[in-house]
Amino acid sequence: MKACVILAAGEGKRIGVRKQFVEIGGKPLFMYSLEKALKLFDEVILVLPEDVLEKTPVPEGVKKVKGGKERQDSVLNAILETEADIVVIHDSARPLASERMFSEVANLGSWDGKIVAVPARDTIKEVSGDSVLKTLDRSHIWMSQTPQAFKRKVLIECHFRARNEGFYGTDDASLLERYGYKVGIVMGSYWNVKVTYREDLQFLERILTQERFIGKAV
Ligand code: C5P
Repeated sequence: MKACVILAAGEGKRIGVRKQFVEIGGKPLFMYSLEKALKLFDEVILVLPEDVLEKTPVPEGVKKVKGGKERQDSVLNAILETEADIVVIHDSARPLASERMFSEVANLGSWDGKIVAVPARDTIKEVSGDSVLKTLDRSHIWMSQTPQAFKRKVLIECHFRARNEGFYGTDDASLLERYGYKVGIVMGSYWNVKVTYREDLQFLERILTQERFIGKAV
């Protein structure tokens, strides 16, 4: 059995608004990911801020779970609420993730986890303050996105170990890497952007409200 967790419990500190609830094309941003997840997975969990948990309307069959202080806390709350063998974790702030990406990451094969990622296109510099230290070898650099999928038992073990050590990663795969588990890669897309700043919302509005993109993703 496969479950999909859609994370929508952020406070949007950098953007000044809970971006997951911003309406684009007549529906809140989180709904784009939720609808894809409902088509593909046996169980769908939506993680919401506690104060709007009850009043947020969701399609039938979606389980609502309250978020935590950090993203990692929200993920742990959700994965303790399912018994699925495989859990897919996705940021609702990436509404353009495609069904192909969800399906391919969830097909774990012999991996403990799999992530969607894209090769770095730009030249990557290591910087200190305003001074460039060196150029990294771009051929080994990929930029991690979501969805990411994991064996549930492995993910729970890694989350508890990280919590005990007070370690917070910027994605879930970084916890598996830390504890020596094997994480594979699925090709993502440069269109699979994460809404972080206000201009990202304007960009998405243009994409998602164009007739030819409605109901589709990259
Ligand atoms: O803040 P950031 O953009 O990194 O958040 C990534 C995703 O994690 C967003 O979809 C956000 O709603 C979610 N999140 C969460 N719980 C938190 C913080 C972030 O579900 N405490």
